[in-house]
Amino acid sequence: MSSRTPLMAGNWKMNLNHLEAIAHVQKLSFALADKDYEAVEVAVLPPFTDLRSVQTLVDGDKLKIKYGAQDISPFDSGAYTGDISGPMLAKLKCTFVVIGHSERRQYHAETDELVNHKIKAAYRHGLTPILCVGEALEIRKEGRQVPYTLSQLDGALKDIPAEQAQSIVIAYEPVWAIGTGEVATPEDAQEVCAAIRGRLAELYSQELADAVRIQYGGSVKSGNVASIMAQPDVDGALVGGASLDADEFVKIVRFRD
Ligand code: PEP
Repeated sequence: MSSRTPLMAGNWKMNLNHLEAIAHVQKLSFALADKDYEAVEVAVLPPFTDLRSVQTLVDGDKLKIKYGAQDISPFDSGAYTGDISGPMLAKLKCTFVVIGHSERRQYHAETDELVNHKIKAAYRHGLTPILCVGEALEIRKEGRQVPYTLSQLDGALKDIPAEQAQSIVIAYEPVWAIGTGEVATPEDAQEVCAAIRGRLAELYSQELADAVRIQYGGSVKSGNVASIMAQPDVDGALVGGASLDADEFVKIVRFRD
């Protein structure tokens, strides 16, 4: 049994305004108010415009739910219209920040180099990156999912020292499984998550690799989460669509029930 606490994180993407966010988080906290879920860490990752409302709710009601942002600027301030910086997210007491999501790589042309700079920005301000990696369908058809994903990992972690990397969360998200209803088999998820852990051991140490949480993401639902979580190198889920339904997300968090 691994000592890594599973992390179930809901990536809301560009959904739920700040009023809907409040209602949603209240519903989650009510449903998770007993002791059962203490062995699982729960986080929501709302749009930027919701973060202040979620912070007020979490702080005021002392909720155990954590929260974070979906992106971060590599810069700390300046003429970068539309971007949000690490100091801004830290001021909102975000715990996490998603970096390198495939939708950012696809629609905003984010490269591994930019992802690397964003990870550095997150660590400068005490934020924990949830680094997303994973292959597109053509790469999987060619059987290159492991080397491709590891090269994304290498690029993202360039010059990140062990003292920082030890707290990173990595989300293996095969692009062909995101929002498609096409879930990777538990064995598919395990193959790449194990390879990621192996690479962390090579880059840093076995001790660090054993401590880092690796999530699976891609059409996770209450019906498939338990079999994915049963894999030895899967330590949680990054949940998109299914996290927008509070009841469904609660069932995912309670995958052990
Ligand atoms: C995601 O957005 O990270 C994701 C995994 O989405 P979905 O669960 O909808 O596939």
